[in-house]
Amino acid sequence: MAAYTPMIQQYLAIKEEAKDAFLFFRLGDFYEMFFDDAILASRELEITLTGREGGGESRIPMCGLPYHAAEGYIARLIEKGYKVAICEQVEDPAAAKGVVRREIIRVVTPGTVMETKAVSDKANNFIVAVASGNESFGLAACDLTTGELYVTSFARSIDVLSDEVNVYHPAEIVGDEEVLELLKPLAAGWNRPVLFTTREPMDAGRLALQFEEAELKPLSLIRERAVSLLTGYLDETQKRSLSHVRRIRVYEPNQYMILDPFTRRNLELTETVRDRSKKGSLLWLLDRTKTSMGARQLRRWIDKPLLSKSPIDERLEAVDKLYRDLIFRDELRSELGEIYDLERLVGRVAFGSANGRDMNALKTSLQHVPALAALCEGSKSSTLRELVAGVDDCADLAHMIETVIVDDPPVSVRDGGLIKPGYDEYLDQLREASVSGKKWLADLERQEREATGIKSLKIGYNKVFGYYLEVSKANLHMLPEGRYERKQTLANAERYVTPELKEKERLILEAEEKMVDLEYARFVELREHLSAHLHRLQKLAETVATLDVYQSFGTVSAEQRFVRPEVTDSYNFVVDEGRHPVVEAVLEGAPFIANNTSLTQEECSMLLITGPNMAGKSTYMRQVALICILAQIGCFVPAKKAVVPLIDRIFTRIGAADDLIGGQSTFMVEMKDIQTMTEKATSQSLVIIDELGRGTSTAEGMAIAQAVIEFVHHEVGCKALVSTHFHELAHLEETLPSLANACMAVQETGDNVTFLRKLVPGAAGSSYGIYCAQLAGLPQGIIKRAYTLLESLEQPAARQAPAGEISVIGNKADAASAAGSLAKSNGIRLPGNAAATRTNELSDMARETA
Ligand code: ADP
Repeated sequence: MAAYTPMIQQYLAIKEEAKDAFLFFRLGDFYEMFFDDAILASRELEITLTGREGGGESRIPMCGLPYHAAEGYIARLIEKGYKVAICEQVEDPAAAKGVVRREIIRVVTPGTVMETKAVSDKANNFIVAVASGNESFGLAACDLTTGELYVTSFARSIDVLSDEVNVYHPAEIVGDEEVLELLKPLAAGWNRPVLFTTREPMDAGRLALQFEEAELKPLSLIRERAVSLLTGYLDETQKRSLSHVRRIRVYEPNQYMILDPFTRRNLELTETVRDRSKKGSLLWLLDRTKTSMGARQLRRWIDKPLLSKSPIDERLEAVDKLYRDLIFRDELRSELGEIYDLERLVGRVAFGSANGRDMNALKTSLQHVPALAALCEGSKSSTLRELVAGVDDCADLAHMIETVIVDDPPVSVRDGGLIKPGYDEYLDQLREASVSGKKWLADLERQEREATGIKSLKIGYNKVFGYYLEVSKANLHMLPEGRYERKQTLANAERYVTPELKEKERLILEAEEKMVDLEYARFVELREHLSAHLHRLQKLAETVATLDVYQSFGTVSAEQRFVRPEVTDSYNFVVDEGRHPVVEAVLEGAPFIANNTSLTQEECSMLLITGPNMAGKSTYMRQVALICILAQIGCFVPAKKAVVPLIDRIFTRIGAADDLIGGQSTFMVEMKDIQTMTEKATSQSLVIIDELGRGTSTAEGMAIAQAVIEFVHHEVGCKALVSTHFHELAHLEETLPSLANACMAVQETGDNVTFLRKLVPGAAGSSYGIYCAQLAGLPQGIIKRAYTLLESLEQPAARQAPAGEISVIGNKADAASAAGSLAKSNGIRLPGNAAATRTNELSDMARETA
């Protein structure tokens, strides 16, 4: 190392502190990277790799980027799951003896990034810390951009841990080696790449500096350890006070409906299964928020449906009033539209990165709060009136910003032009001096032009020489010898100075330098003043976010013709004409067919649903789950009438999208899910299983399916929807009193089969697998042969298969997914009890549908 130049030695010493990060090493106007960092960064960021002599044996690989463009590059590295350590010059290069002192001022990581380019404003960016104890896990989740901090703990169970961590869609997880090893395999199924960082909790003393005693006191030991782990890591990476992370929101996992990661995905709550996009998810449908805070709040509400009646009713009450009053909704929406992202503005104020424009955004937002509050106060909703009762509109802060900051400040806070005239007397004097100095220059220019007769003589400025008089070569002969001092020769001009000019220059530059410094000081003062009031702004932001979600619910509910559900503490789930909110919204052309659901303790709590592929079974089952979730987040539901009990947990076993995870077989995954269900489901749960028992031999599959159904029926007693292609299981209806058969109606007319999308009592007669194969365009030879084989396997009494076309009521995508359904189905039916076909009823329906 001794052979390296002092600067490279400094680099290497600092790099030791940031081994797991790219080190952005500040050199003048650039961040440089060296050695392996440079090689990797040049590849990841597609920037040119160069080299420099550094005293070593060979040239040192190097690449650099301009400091003002760093934010974009940092965002790209963060997105790829890297960390970036930012190393700045911490002394004035002019004053430095030897190498300028440099320090890492901050480490940017996926979970702690503050830069707006790197985080979506519609979703939180959480970092999660997990503390592991002998008997329990503690969890702390923080969004550094907004200052939210949620804390919980639960008995040691990897399933619960996985569910809880997944709720936050974290960008980064901090914990000890052992916990991370437990979590890593699960992360494969999550919706985004996660960075794992190993750390131990720090000693508790530091916590008392960050949080007031009242916040810390209620924490159990394991929760405190989780918070300490998180705070320690934030300290280590951010290296500054985080005055916006002060409030600890403690909750118990069982305060909310429990949804495992697969269920969240299967129900497409916040992203679709197919391409993981928001479009096509429940969130997408419900998001009519006007503010980013509202959008994030909405997502959190969808992630955590409530589990007690009174807060749900409160939400529904507000939504109801908004639902009924279009004018009120519009007024509220237009006021909300004027409010910027208060939470993140507050975050930037606390972080010390807010600029003049952020201040004005804050001011403008605050100025709209009184109107917003007045609208709610005057509304018919007691929830809304309570929400804004005594709201602190922070008018004093808005007023202060108004007094200090000019209307259209520049992006930079270091170059002046920020502070309003009249705010600071000395600043005004300096400004005056600078203005009169400039005027003096203008006068000088005019005088000298007159005196010399050179019309093009001008006064200019550059950083190296300061102010000068410039005369073009062509006019030099007109300039009297010795009038000015020559300073610089250009190709076609000469530049001069005079002692008087130099003296004025000193005054002007001094005034300007002082001005810029003073402006900055005044600005920082304002920022610090606001920092002392962050909790007030945060509280206000929360109120605005909640209001925005209510209005979003009201708007969607009205536009999609939802109704207010009656949420009850009892068992029964009864829905008239329920719809799948998202399928309905994206269905082109054909209308969505509504279906009733009645799952009651007295009559039937379990439905065994049969019917052909593509008939609408899984849409129906998802619809039931979504109606429960909508009701429990306090939104109206797609139905004509709905009585919805509180559901503590939804289990789903649907579809094939998640089967590939971890290389496990479909069947194994299904069995594991079922195992979890048998262990965790209570009578208050909702169980949904699509195609129970597929993936193994027919006899075995059917046996397992029956055993599982019996278990749920006898032991759990919860509401359940099970679809199967084993029509033979229909006989269970006779022995299990709470189970009823149902099927998706299909109409056959001559050579045609029409899916009616209507759930009717009874079991289906056929799975129509071969029709679907035909629809998907399989060669005629295969289709014929399949029918022959089918016939030979069926009892002689079996119905003759129609050979003609199949028509589908639905969208174009049906044909494509039918091919997939073929693969799902084992294509072969065993002889079984064919259900009575209800021809008359069905043709009535077909007519209705058409
Ligand atoms: P299955 O699970 O029986 O194979 P799906 O539930 O996947 O069938 O439904 C197949 C397609 O039919 C869906 O993608 C949707 O476009 C359409 N569909 C389902 N239910 C309805 C309905 N109630 N009304 C209109 N179209 C529907």
